Amino acid sequence: MRNAMHIVLLGGGHAHLEVLRRFGRRPQPGVRLSLITKGAHAPYSGMLPGFVAGHYSADEIHVPLAPLTQRANCALVVAEATRLDAERRSILLSDGREIAGDVISINTGAVTDCSTGTSAERCVAAKPIDDFAQDWTRLMDVIEADPTLRIAVIGAGAAGVELALSIQHRLMQMPFAGGRIAESRVSLVGGDDILPSFPAKVRQRVARLLRGRGVTFLSGPDIEVIATRGLSGAGFQHVLVWATGVRPADWLTRSGLALDHAGFVAVDRHLQSKSHEGIFCAGDAAGLVDGPQPKAGVIAVRQGPVLGENLRRYASGRQLQSFAPPKIWLSLISTGNRYAVASRGKWSVEGRWTWYWKDWIDRRFVRKYKQ
Ligand SMILES: Cc1cc2nc3c(=O)[nH]c(=O)nc-3n(C[C@H](O)[C@H](O)[C@H](O)COP(=O)(O)OP(=O)(O)OC[C@H]3O[C@@H](n4cnc5c(N)ncnc54)[C@H](O)[C@@H]3O)c2cc1C
Repeated sequence: MRNAMHIVLLGGGHAHLEVLRRFGRRPQPGVRLSLITKGAHAPYSGMLPGFVAGHYSADEIHVPLAPLTQRANCALVVAEATRLDAERRSILLSDGREIAGDVISINTGAVTDCSTGTSAERCVAAKPIDDFAQDWTRLMDVIEADPTLRIAVIGAGAAGVELALSIQHRLMQMPFAGGRIAESRVSLVGGDDILPSFPAKVRQRVARLLRGRGVTFLSGPDIEVIATRGLSGAGFQHVLVWATGVRPADWLTRSGLALDHAGFVAVDRHLQSKSHEGIFCAGDAAGLVDGPQPKAGVIAVRQGPVLGENLRRYASGRQLQSFAPPKIWLSLISTGNRYAVASRGKWSVEGRWTWYWKDWIDRRFVRKYKQ
């Protein structure tokens, strides 16, 4: 009798949540599944700023992977992958184990590019997002213990803006020495302007909100100088939160897989490696060579159904489906105080109701994978 085809899902990212849900609903005879994940709980990026602002608990923003894998009859391996050998389709884990598959699907996200360097001791990176959720909890204690500390968020894209405003909101709620401090201690450090990939109207809305909340925007061509010397030169100690662009994990760039111009795993429109048949990749780790692929959770989420279908089809030798990246999509930028700016293409709107709309969408997403 033919052995079952072993599909190894590497990383519990947004796309793999959907793959697991689908295999749970419709098991495939002749297929054996394993999930390798650093943590037993997958954080949902959309709710991370709300977690920082204090609106959500850690439980609320995480999807436990054990029930999902159980329903999909998938072996759960909680360990960090440290090496991938694309030729042998085998993965080395931090505990020394090696797991090989007939098919490998990668959804391990990306890491914040802090390559501009920093001399600050108190420094956290927004990605990997699972590390950030833990680092933030630790950092809160540091900030609470020292009311003179200032916080600089480096990177003025959507994640940087959301984090700066969420941190500012959280700090305003913190009791310091019996009282609350009224002045803002947060700055946002970026290139020439905030939200460079958004339309002018959205940038204006967010700039006004930042000013109103006392979050200073420091622009400059050399982020490193501002982040290290410029801010410490102002006479304050700073905590640095890095929310700049992303780069691929080092172990993935050494796998032997073809890479795109930025070093991410080069995939075709079927989300299959350009160099190795039977290896798929989605989310931030993937570089779609036939089209633009912004590093956003919404893209990883939309790739989930296509990836799930293609793993099934590959296992049964059928023709693969194509993923078409959306040209525009809805962005909801939360501002920490239960307020949000929504935009889609050139259209934009803001308000408290917009935050409740985002809250409803985000909670629905997490609930879908918890049920
Ligand atoms: C503050 C913030 C807010 C954001 N808000 C939004 C938003 O509102 N909308 C949006 O579209 N995007 C948002 N993003 C972007 C979003 O976080 C990413 O694009 C998204 O998380 C990418 O999803 P993914 O599935 O590729 O990987 P991830 O969600 O990063 O998941 C990767 C998973 O792989 C696991 N993993 C990683 N390395 C290994 C390893 N070596 N071995 C085993 N397991 C591993 C991790 O534990 C993790 O569970 C935000 C980002 C930040 C920082």
